[in-house]
Amino acid sequence: MGALDGKRVLIMGVANERSIAWGCAKAMADAGAELAFTYQSEMMLKRVEPLAQSVGSDILIPADVSDDASMDAAFVALQEKWDRLDCVVHAIAFSDKNELTGRIIDTSRENFRNSLSISCYSLIDVSKRASQMMTEGGTILTMTYQGSNKVTPFYNVMGVAKAALESAVRYLANDLGPDGIRVNAISPGPMKTLAGAAIGGARKTFKFTERNAPLRANATLEAIGATAVYLASDGGACTSGEILHVDGGFHVLGMPQVDNIQG
Ligand code: NAD
Repeated sequence: MGALDGKRVLIMGVANERSIAWGCAKAMADAGAELAFTYQSEMMLKRVEPLAQSVGSDILIPADVSDDASMDAAFVALQEKWDRLDCVVHAIAFSDKNELTGRIIDTSRENFRNSLSISCYSLIDVSKRASQMMTEGGTILTMTYQGSNKVTPFYNVMGVAKAALESAVRYLANDLGPDGIRVNAISPGPMKTLAGAAIGGARKTFKFTERNAPLRANATLEAIGATAVYLASDGGACTSGEILHVDGGFHVLGMPQVDNIQG
């Protein structure tokens, strides 16, 4: 018996085998879930298709979260395949990488709008659409980062977007709770993904958190995936509106480990 036997899960945000969405997909498939995938563009399909096939899924649907027509079509296509949905994994974010190297004070209006729309509004939009298919209750999961409430090098407007995302998680949890739908965010530490690499100083941040986290380790795709399984399973039945850190404990620190302080 798998913890997710019989559950239907929509995975949004696989770009390649390093994607956090893929870590979730693999763990959820191993736990017995049936999966459908969305992909952002035809270019992504080449990577996503073999991954989907490897977990027995042939439901691959294009969906650009910044485009209402694309989202309309995606959920029509999903409804043609499935009459019910139990879980969505929303692992999507975007910001212009040129604005993830300098100072937040230089953020352009256009990139602010895009970053917040793709990285935060999309969760609200997806939740509305997905919840209409969650006729037996369900779980909505998103991915955040602690740059939402602590200043982290070059995270800039993404920090603002993640703060908004975490707030949206709480409001959505309250709206959808009466329908038996839980809404939670996982907050992984830095990961070596395409989106992660777009942030200035990514390698240094990765090494710093690895050296200083209480567990002296960064997150793994396996641990993030297992957390997604837990939250989507009956074990997570009483958890909603939560931001669950999967970061080796890094978020509790006020200072680096003493051996790593120079001077
Ligand atoms: P990734 O690059 O593998 O995934 C990002 C995904 O967002 C891609 O699949 C991309 O296609 C999708 N996306 C971007 N714009 C889109 C749009 N308009 N429509 C549809 N899809 C779109 O990187 P990842 O690190 O796996 O990112 C997944 C989530 O995890 C993001 O929300 C990210 O902020 C979050 N996160 C990442 C880290 C990290 O260090 N990598 C840490 C904490 C949280």
